[in-house]
Amino acid sequence: MPSSIFFVVLGLNALLFAFATASVASYRGHNVVMAFILGFIFGPFGLVIACFRPVNLSATQAPVVEAGPMRLCESCRSYVPDLASVCRFCGRDLPDEDQIALGN
Ligand SMILES: [Zn+2]
Repeated sequence: MPSSIFFVVLGLNALLFAFATASVASYRGHNVVMAFILGFIFGPFGLVIACFRPVNLSATQAPVVEAGPMRLCESCRSYVPDLASVCRFCGRDLPDEDQIALGN
């Protein structure tokens, strides 16, 4: 029956976009359940919305900060390990903590 195949394809398509939207939301620090519903209902439009929402920095970077002593890169505003000499995100040299203290 062609109409039942149409609804199966429609349902699989909705699920595909629901999982894709939830995956993007998880990566960008947003509510995964809400994104799943958004992707399920709006399909590609939900996915586009999830991609263009600004990254939730407090959700994506908070676990990294809790992992150990971290400091903020002045160039790209990302958190990097306290002992790092080069930023892993933008590649800039990070000034030594001791040099900052001595004013060199
Ligand atoms: Zn940086």
